[in-house]
Amino acid sequence: MLKKILYILWAVLFIAFLCVVVKNGSFLSFMNSMENATFDIRQKVLTNSGARKHNDNIVIVAIDDASYEYILDKYGEWPLRRDMYAKMIEFIEKQNPKSIAFDLMFVKSIKSRQQDDLALINTFKKYDNIYTAMNLDNQPSDLRTPPTLPEGLALETGGLDFDGIEYTNCRAILQGILDVTQNIGMINVSRSDDGVLRQMPLYLKYQGKLYPQLGYLVGTNVNSDIYKSVISKSDETGSVILNWYGPAGTFENIPMYKLLKAVEGKDKFDYNFNNKIVYFGATAASLFDIKTVPVDKVYPGVEVQATYVNNIIDGSIIRKVPFGINIILTILLSLITIICVMKISSMPVAFGTSMTIYAIYVTFTYFAMEFKNLWFEIISPLNFALFTFILAVIIKYLIKSRDFDQQYKLATTDGLTELYNHRYFQEQLQNQISHSQRYEVPLSLIIIDIDFFKKFNDTFGHQSGDAVLKQVAAILKRNVRMTDIVCRYGGEEMSIILPNTKYDEAVAIAQKLRSLVEEKKCKLSGNRESNVTISLGVSTYGNDGQTPSELIETADKRLYNAKNNGRNRVN
Ligand code: GH3
Ligand code: MG
Ligand code: MG
Repeated sequence: MLKKILYILWAVLFIAFLCVVVKNGSFLSFMNSMENATFDIRQKVLTNSGARKHNDNIVIVAIDDASYEYILDKYGEWPLRRDMYAKMIEFIEKQNPKSIAFDLMFVKSIKSRQQDDLALINTFKKYDNIYTAMNLDNQPSDLRTPPTLPEGLALETGGLDFDGIEYTNCRAILQGILDVTQNIGMINVSRSDDGVLRQMPLYLKYQGKLYPQLGYLVGTNVNSDIYKSVISKSDETGSVILNWYGPAGTFENIPMYKLLKAVEGKDKFDYNFNNKIVYFGATAASLFDIKTVPVDKVYPGVEVQATYVNNIIDGSIIRKVPFGINIILTILLSLITIICVMKISSMPVAFGTSMTIYAIYVTFTYFAMEFKNLWFEIISPLNFALFTFILAVIIKYLIKSRDFDQQYKLATTDGLTELYNHRYFQEQLQNQISHSQRYEVPLSLIIIDIDFFKKFNDTFGHQSGDAVLKQVAAILKRNVRMTDIVCRYGGEEMSIILPNTKYDEAVAIAQKLRSLVEEKKCKLSGNRESNVTISLGVSTYGNDGQTPSELIETADKRLYNAKNNGRNRVN
């Protein structure tokens, strides 16, 4: 009883605890960050194992530390003069690149530099494969009036309704560029709660319209067929999860100072940009465009763009498996766990088997990511399965202990009278004798036999005989102490072991029982009633013997005497 209350209390407390942590939200965000960690690990293993190959046609012209130093040294200022960008574009265009994209923003500049700006604007006008960046933000409108962007920059949604992350303001770039090209993409990123960049928006909302992310624009312009298929992989905020190719420096990096030197006519430049997607961007730590991504803590923004474009081109954007499928897998794992625990009798083997199944599941999620770019959840299914494992083990032991109790009862009681059986009687008699011997306390035994029971059976039938046996047994049980052990000795003979009871006391009890039985009108089959009487023999440990058989023999002898002296009496 106490045990049951404890179990219920434990369950209530546990459920209350679960409710608190779930409601608090910290539990879910904790689970989420754990799941993200498994994603990062899968990505790291995938890139380390060489399962992911980046596209060789994507090349980065990197403003690395050396280039930054070179520019400061050579031109005495930062940022670099825009006519130099124009010259670099002209240099690359001679080699017929697929596209040139700037992960840099050419924001409005000072008056004295308008000539330089014009040179850059002219190259944008001249080539239609040059892309540049702009940024949406939420600056208050009294600090900066939200600019109206040219019509052509907004995404053609083909009448479909998308919902991007909304911004209220925009950092505009040179009006001249806005006037001559539509190849302008936003470079906003989206990060997970832990600050790690795992996903990128495809498009963003500003003034009721959707604007493409730069990488999305560059990628889909390379292959416009994949436009729709990429959109279908985005979540409700229009973001997609990136697949990574390796740590920083995975894409081919050409330090910008080398290109500058070639443009200046100083050095020979032996790299060929033919058919390449050329991305300009900063990789120098001092230029603050450093992100943390699943595969690297220090990862330049321009390589995020390169990864993004590469994902779009090779169709390797990660898709999260729908919630329903995760639920089904969770249930499946939990069911397998329950079967393991219930069917396997050895607990370590059941545990080992469950763990092996979980390991197989984790391996499966890895290959699903490698070959199908699918993100199957690991944490919640495994947590749930483990929780099920613990629950199943508890239930199994509860059932087992209940079975044991039942079997013990079956093995020690008599089915008809529900008294203890003969075997239990023998066992207990020996135990009680040992106890009395050790602690020098008295012990008595009463053996009871129903009088003329053969005749009773003959008169009233066997069924009535059984009913009387039950009722006599009940009288005995009800009228002795809790510590007394009432047994069915055999046939219509019963016995009572009375610990801590002297001979006289035992005789008194025997007399009481005798008269109770005598007075009782036993109910028989067919609504009949009848009385029976019993004869009782009493023996006591010490005086009458030291062993079970000596005690039984004496009690039996006295019972026989009681019968001979006229029955319905104690001896
Ligand atoms: P007495 O003890 O007074 O000398 O006479 P008795 O007729 O009771 O003689 P005895 O003890 O030898 O007879 C035992 C009878 O009890 C035999 C059997 O018919 C009956 N009996 C034994 N076990 C059961 C039982 O489980 N159910 C029923 N109905 N009768 C039983
Ligand atoms: Mg008998
Ligand atoms: Mg009898």
